[in-house]
Amino acid sequence: MTLIDGKTVSQALKDRIAAEVKENGYTPGLAVIIVGDDPASRVYVNNKKKACTYCGFYSEEYALPASATQEQLIDLIHTLNTDERIDGILCQLPLPRHIDETAVIAAIAPAKDVDAFSEADVGKVMIGNYTFSPCTPAGVMELLRYYHIDVSGKNAVVIGRSNIVGKPMAMLLLHADATVTLCHSKTANLKEICRNADILVSAVGKIGAVTADMVKEGAVVIDVGINRNADGKLQGDVDFEAVKEKASFITPVPGGVGPMTIAILMQNTLTAYKNNKNIH
Ligand code: NAD
Repeated sequence: MTLIDGKTVSQALKDRIAAEVKENGYTPGLAVIIVGDDPASRVYVNNKKKACTYCGFYSEEYALPASATQEQLIDLIHTLNTDERIDGILCQLPLPRHIDETAVIAAIAPAKDVDAFSEADVGKVMIGNYTFSPCTPAGVMELLRYYHIDVSGKNAVVIGRSNIVGKPMAMLLLHADATVTLCHSKTANLKEICRNADILVSAVGKIGAVTADMVKEGAVVIDVGINRNADGKLQGDVDFEAVKEKASFITPVPGGVGPMTIAILMQNTLTAYKNNKNIH
């Protein structure tokens, strides 16, 4: 079994980005908006800011109270849309319930939508012709590439059908010529379908969602889930200790997919900068 080391792979990607930025004197700018005081969101935002500093980007944080209105948030986005120092705008989800996430994401200028959550970006991923990569799924694909894991012709099973992880993950695997099955909470015979997977990606958000009896001998197992266990520690969806005995490759949580998501966000921000400045 080979442990897929997301820290090393993400570091390599961030090093490449930092080198390109330094060599060329680029100044990509990312604005990160956080609304309310969700502790998990705070950790993600801090990590994104840290990655910006590492890569030599300019970054700004806008922390709005949970009581902020949708109008205030959209006004801020409109201001950032025309701010020349800012190439990418990221609004950390989830937002408080009184705010319509779709409307907020739609307010971000397409050239600055580095999270690629807008309807247009999601559609472009489906067609396979996109500027900004869906961060978490593209991070998974980068891990597969780094470890020379051949995807073409393989049976890939994705568990979870969210718009930000499961669906775009299925699309990227399909573009890489896998035969893809997309499973979800209503899937019948989940265990049997998973046992057929050469590549199994779990994006459920539940501890124990993937047990060893769902995994084929020699399968590649990618755990996107980020959950807190009873001790408050981070844990994925996969029963890691048992599944690692069967898998050929497996990602840990933490230190697997998580750091990749941020590295791809940095890559998207650099792409946005180059496009906004007409650098090719
Ligand atoms: P979501 O809640 O939007 O989607 C969960 C999906 O799991 C749904 O499509 C649902 O149908 C499916 N599901 C739920 N219970 C199931 C079951 N028992 N069997 C099969 N399918 C089931 O979540 P999301 O935003 O896609 O995130 C999924 C997980 O990935 C979460 O733990 C989240 O924290 C994590 N995540 C990690 C990263 C990262 O960078 N590593 C990024 C985004 C999300």
